[in-house]
Amino acid sequence: MASLRMCRQLSRSLTSASASASSLFSRGRNASLSRGIGKYSTAAAVENPISPPVSVNYNQLLIDGKFVNAASERTFPTLDPRTGDAIAHVAEGDAEDINRAVAAARKAFDEGPWPKMTAYERQKILLRFADLLEKHNDELAALETWDNGKPYEQAAKIEVPMMIRLIRYYAGWADKIHGLTVPADGQYHVQTLHEPIGVVGQIIPWNFPLLMFSWKVAPALACGNTIILKTAEQTPLSAILASKLLHEAGLPPGVLNVVSGFGPTAGAALASHMDVDKLAFTGSTNTGKVVLQLAAKSNLKPVTLELGGKSPFIVCEDADIDKAVELAHFALFFNQGQCCCAGSRTFVHERVYDEFVEKAKARALKRTVGDPFKGGIEQGPQIDMEQFEKIMGYIRSGVESGATLETGGERFGNKGYYIKPTVFSNVKDDMLIAKDEIFGPVQTILKFKDLDEVIRRANASHYGLGAGVVTQDLDTANTLTRALRVGTVWINCFDVFDAAIPFGGYKMSGQGREKGIYCLSNYLQVKAVVTPLKNPAWL
Ligand code: ADP
Repeated sequence: MASLRMCRQLSRSLTSASASASSLFSRGRNASLSRGIGKYSTAAAVENPISPPVSVNYNQLLIDGKFVNAASERTFPTLDPRTGDAIAHVAEGDAEDINRAVAAARKAFDEGPWPKMTAYERQKILLRFADLLEKHNDELAALETWDNGKPYEQAAKIEVPMMIRLIRYYAGWADKIHGLTVPADGQYHVQTLHEPIGVVGQIIPWNFPLLMFSWKVAPALACGNTIILKTAEQTPLSAILASKLLHEAGLPPGVLNVVSGFGPTAGAALASHMDVDKLAFTGSTNTGKVVLQLAAKSNLKPVTLELGGKSPFIVCEDADIDKAVELAHFALFFNQGQCCCAGSRTFVHERVYDEFVEKAKARALKRTVGDPFKGGIEQGPQIDMEQFEKIMGYIRSGVESGATLETGGERFGNKGYYIKPTVFSNVKDDMLIAKDEIFGPVQTILKFKDLDEVIRRANASHYGLGAGVVTQDLDTANTLTRALRVGTVWINCFDVFDAAIPFGGYKMSGQGREKGIYCLSNYLQVKAVVTPLKNPAWL
């Protein structure tokens, strides 16, 4: 029930306030720098973008506690998705900067003080960081919206507060990490020490830059590790400000190093570095395969992966249709559809299918699209030209493969990367739009007859990240919960992301879990300590 409440709250505050695709749709580093979008004609006019209530004060790399330029002195533009214009030029780190950052993290780990500090001291710094984030809530949110395009109200009222909660959650864990006393042969005293794993490389994506920053950094720091974080090239800004605040809170130099830059250069250098003890990655399944190979070919560093998804959202025949429509809409369209766990295969029982499609279409038509800094906006622009074109390619493919385009299907306005909320009905399992991760505001609605059939079809995917189920029947909920091969099942709710709830994927959606108690094991080594007992007879 708590989950359902949170989910409703999330929906309410929002309203108020690839695997096979890569061959079909061209991708490339420079695509995001493209400005021209004339290919997609427009009917609606777009207002002049609102001037963001924030300025960019930090744009350098953060290495060993200092802001520095890239060794190459190169910079790259980070773009405003509302216009495609540059917001700022950011230092472009590459392999040499990763080497510098790893050396700083190594020194901070080997010489301390961070891993040797009392857990209580580490906890105090994390708690001070959370307080500073609270103070800078709106500034961080504005930077996030400017760089990413997500609605400001979503960033300010949901995402930054969620980030703060998560940091406090892991601050709480810092002084509760300890090993066990293990029963063994009566001649020995055996205990386990839970030690930090060492120098950690972390690579994050662009869809939730601050939340991904916190999911990675907070547990690793609570466990006493040192970090090199590579942000996504599309959204470098908010993590730099957050890291500055973390240093203000008292983080010693070299404990967290932040390198902005591109995947094949900075990211690959981090994944293949011989002196990085652990890699944590969030991004696409294709890139996940690449970093896993780089880790294996270098020093066999353990890797956790949080990858793509094509999550089923199952509307059973007993569902309250109005609630199901709203939840399915939220599950797909939240964050411009740019969620790895988006409920992107909407399976609806045949008895309620027509009513659901009609209402889903009406809801999509009502969705407010526009400048994300404007109040009441539910949907801003997609992140960049590359994603915009990829999504438009999938929409074309949906039409060509015979799905019914109920609404949307074209760009919104004449500037930036906005796409009208799009709904397809009569979608078949073998269509590309039902198989690939679109990562955009495109709902695909499929029809099913019975539970066995929908279980089989929902599981017939290489992905296994999340699933949504709408039903009032406890037996149906229990059956689906156990049958679905996914890391999270949301029953009568969706996208509930409390700090303590583990998140991660089955199958090609990832390896390992983030958040909650489960995440701690990603950042700890277990050492067994065996001591002979002088007087075993006393046992
Ligand atoms: P997307 O396709 O959504 O941009 P990616 O998986 O490519 O997702 O990107 C997620 C993160 O992985 C980003 O920080 C990106 O720079 C990084 N990345 C991309 N390619 C590589 C690579 N070859 N090695 C390491 N990191 C990479």
